[in-house]
Amino acid sequence: MKINNAGGKIYFDYAATTPCDPRVVDKMMPYFSQHFGNPSSIHSFGQMADYAVEESRQTVSEILNCSFDEIIFTSCGTESDNLALRGAAFQQRLARDANHILISPVEHHAVLNTAQQLADIHGFEVEFLPVDNFGIVNPDDVKKKLRKDTAVVSVVYANNEIGSINPISSIGAVCRSHNIPFHTDAVQAGAFLTLNVEDLNVDLLSLGAHKFYGPKGVGVLFKRKSTSIVPIQSGGGQEFKFRAGTHNVPLIVGIAEALRISLFEQSNRIDLVRPLRDRLIEIILSSIPETKLTGHPINRLPNHASFVFKGVDGNHLLMVLDSRGFACSSGSACRVGDPHPSEVLTAIGLDPEWALGSLRISLGAFSNLHDTQSLLDKLPSLIQSLRKLTPE
Ligand SMILES: *Cc1c(COP(=O)(O)O)cnc(C)c1O
Repeated sequence: MKINNAGGKIYFDYAATTPCDPRVVDKMMPYFSQHFGNPSSIHSFGQMADYAVEESRQTVSEILNCSFDEIIFTSCGTESDNLALRGAAFQQRLARDANHILISPVEHHAVLNTAQQLADIHGFEVEFLPVDNFGIVNPDDVKKKLRKDTAVVSVVYANNEIGSINPISSIGAVCRSHNIPFHTDAVQAGAFLTLNVEDLNVDLLSLGAHKFYGPKGVGVLFKRKSTSIVPIQSGGGQEFKFRAGTHNVPLIVGIAEALRISLFEQSNRIDLVRPLRDRLIEIILSSIPETKLTGHPINRLPNHASFVFKGVDGNHLLMVLDSRGFACSSGSACRVGDPHPSEVLTAIGLDPEWALGSLRISLGAFSNLHDTQSLLDKLPSLIQSLRKLTPE
């Protein structure tokens, strides 16, 4: 497939979103106008659509190593996070008066702001797990912080801003031994890491299609059969009564096909991006003074390189990079115009002088050595000129 390169600009923001694979688009197309039936209808139009939904569910469940009725289709990764956290918190409160929520301080806003609302409006007590300087949670700390009244624990699988990978399987084992539901936001991990829910010891796991070359606007929540949740969107009986609303058939077909292809091509994609990532990290750290890598040097996503440059305005840097033809990110998509450093960079101990100068370079299917080198050739002098603009 060919990426629309927006007037010669080079895309370095695969962690924000990926282009939808044309093979996925082809598979989705008949379900817009041709096989348009409502999967809940009894007649053959409905049955045709229902078959596509259930076949997609089967595909996803095989990849996650779970049963078909543990897969809930949602509208995005954010919705999956909301349903997992709210759904488990309300259920645990109803069942056993549990009011304590344990999350890491490096969660995506979809988890962070959901937990915040559960605290502000619903009176849950939200506690943050400690993280090390790489933004990684230690399972022993989970063990120490778990309480009898803990309703749900949520720890991001791979962080979107700094790329660090959490020891999900060990954290899950701790939660399981205390019988506390454990959720992981695997949206960023979906393209690169194992999604085997048995190996991961998770009860709830969120995915979003557009991070692995699927369409925007569709997600999956894995929900273990033995883990109960309260539905957040009420209405009809779709998705085993956990997520009401007429199925978005084409997008459900799309997420399953994207996940299938992504898994099939995963090792090739890793072989492509990892050496480019290593080159970015090595050369940027050695050629630009007062630069730090954010996140773990090894235990990180293979496509993800993230940095902070002391005394540089990160948003300014992104605009200048864009004008030179490079589409990068600061790491968090929701920071434009916000003078506060990100929660994640603060949580790993960076002061604002560093944290406001963040840059995330994320690679993917169309990355190559030529484009990567072109960025590496220009970045040092760009940083130097931006530093001159900022008086000490
Ligand atoms: C992108 C992302 C989300 C949000 O997923 P959407 O499908 O865009 O709603 C949640 N968590 C992480 C870690 C992400 O990278």
